[in-house]
Amino acid sequence: MMMRNWLLPFSLCVLLSLSACQEKSSENSAENGRSEAEKSQQTRFVTIGTGGVTGVYYPTGGAISKMVNQKREDYNLRATVESTGGSVFNVNAIMEGDLEFGIVQSDRQYQAYNGTDDWKDNPQKKLRAVFSIHPESVTIVAGADTGIKSVPDLKGKIVNIGNPGSGQRGNAIDLFEAAGIDWEKDLDARGIKAAESAGMLQDGRIDAFFYTVGHPNGSIKEAAAGARKVRFVTVDKGIVDKLVSKYPYYAPAEIPLKMYPGVENESDVPTFGVKATLCTSEDVPEDVVYAITREVFENLDEFKTLHPAYEVLARENMLQGLSAPLHPGAIKYYKEAGLME
Ligand code: GLU
Repeated sequence: MMMRNWLLPFSLCVLLSLSACQEKSSENSAENGRSEAEKSQQTRFVTIGTGGVTGVYYPTGGAISKMVNQKREDYNLRATVESTGGSVFNVNAIMEGDLEFGIVQSDRQYQAYNGTDDWKDNPQKKLRAVFSIHPESVTIVAGADTGIKSVPDLKGKIVNIGNPGSGQRGNAIDLFEAAGIDWEKDLDARGIKAAESAGMLQDGRIDAFFYTVGHPNGSIKEAAAGARKVRFVTVDKGIVDKLVSKYPYYAPAEIPLKMYPGVENESDVPTFGVKATLCTSEDVPEDVVYAITREVFENLDEFKTLHPAYEVLARENMLQGLSAPLHPGAIKYYKEAGLME
């Protein structure tokens, strides 16, 4: 499982740096040289909601925390990461005040703020955008023995379209609708969490699964490294065009085969995609959002080394794909940095 080659050292590194912070923090509280005002400023804790541990959101939460925790003393701030059910779960938990931040697909950000789809007639007007991160593509992995090559072949099959809190579930439903397939009748749709998909495909308990995710990621590597051969399902141009013209948040995308040796396709796989974005609530203090934005942007070169899916990141494109209003803490940094007027 190649995923572990980079995920494990990374997680260890986050854990070690967190425990280092804890030790330092107790040393510091014993320190006499600090002013009373400084001492009375308690460290504030914020949690970033991510996704399954084999996706890209989870290490992304780790990477963002790492950036801001390096300056823990300057900001009196400690960020921690939580593995969650994905985008929809994250929006709802931010709105409930259970999470301060969450990584959310750009399509889900749009739907939540505008009150469509999972938030029909229930717009989340307190949702705020911070920045966008890596591109994600709607990825469909099928057992090669199932004969599934393109979307119509999914009919009659057992397909994990994603748990209700995930981002991919809505993408799967949109895709089936555009392809004229009734997902509730024409196939056996399951609602399993992404972290379990690869194992279930390898065990023959499902024929295919959907995952809207950055590449490369641990989940697809796990699916591709097993005894059962797999193939990516192509989304024909006609369907991609339909989706892109109907919805403002979809764009054509390709899954690069070179990242997944052993997968049975012959060339890069056409599909459609969105962007991962960092979201928060209007209620989160300005200086907290400012600190996170500033540390990620000022240390972007270091940030980009933390996951191969960040290769295409540049400061300018991290303000694209956002549909909720920007949080004032993010605006403050963008103005300072000359990224906004
Ligand atoms: N896009 C997926 C979701 O919103 C999560 C992908 C990941 O964890 O990297 O549920």
